[in-house]
Amino acid sequence: VRHLMIAGNWKMHGLQRQVQALTTAIKEGVTSYTEIEVVLFPAFVHLNQVQALLTQTAVKVGAQNLYPAPQGAFTGEVSGPMLVDIGCQYVLVGHSERRMLFQEDLALVAAKCQAAVAVGLQPILCVGETKAQRERGETEAIIAEQIRTIIECVGVAALQQAVIAYEPVWAIGTGLTATPEQAQAVHAFIRHLVAQNNLDIAKAIRILYGGSMKADHAAPLLAMPDIDGGLVGGASLDADHFLAICARAHQQQSEYS
Ligand code: PEP
Repeated sequence: VRHLMIAGNWKMHGLQRQVQALTTAIKEGVTSYTEIEVVLFPAFVHLNQVQALLTQTAVKVGAQNLYPAPQGAFTGEVSGPMLVDIGCQYVLVGHSERRMLFQEDLALVAAKCQAAVAVGLQPILCVGETKAQRERGETEAIIAEQIRTIIECVGVAALQQAVIAYEPVWAIGTGLTATPEQAQAVHAFIRHLVAQNNLDIAKAIRILYGGSMKADHAAPLLAMPDIDGGLVGGASLDADHFLAICARAHQQQSEYS
């Protein structure tokens, strides 16, 4: 049984006071959702603060980005060893906002994935197609290229310690959500791609859905056989909304167990 994960990507939001309140509310609210894994992704400057608040809880912390080199003259960047050193277990890699706003190409995403795995961080590899690509019928080709680059550059074994997030770009921050059937079709395709390289890893790897996930439509998405949780942006900034999604995931996990 794959354990469902609900991850909250806070992006570039919040000042210390809000981060304190949000983390505290989530920490207190998730204690009964023992069946699932919850991971929070605050901005770099808040990682220590969130980490300290979550000590002795099951909630984990991840970073939203890393630089591929372990150290050096890379002003403004943060490395994998630095993230491990402050207690991060996860790191987002290849988020579409970074691929698009900061021109992260396939090779850079692969290098980041490799750097994460090398220091024991678990990358959450984000993949997804744009609206135009979907309309042109290119969804599977785009996803295949994104996943195959990782397998070719980093090796399929790296996926043993990774999570994949399918995030259709047209659904991120837009209020549009993939239907459970649309998402399931892509998730099954991703699992099939991994299975062509390693069947055991394909069965075990968690594939999250991301893209305007909200509590009121999370349940049918989470009930799909190849959807193993959610990467939640906007709704993770509101503790009640985020906890409601966690509750749906907990309920779904109880049905599997
Ligand atoms: C995200 O940033 O990964 C995301 C899914 O955002 P939102 O939930 O706001 O669409």
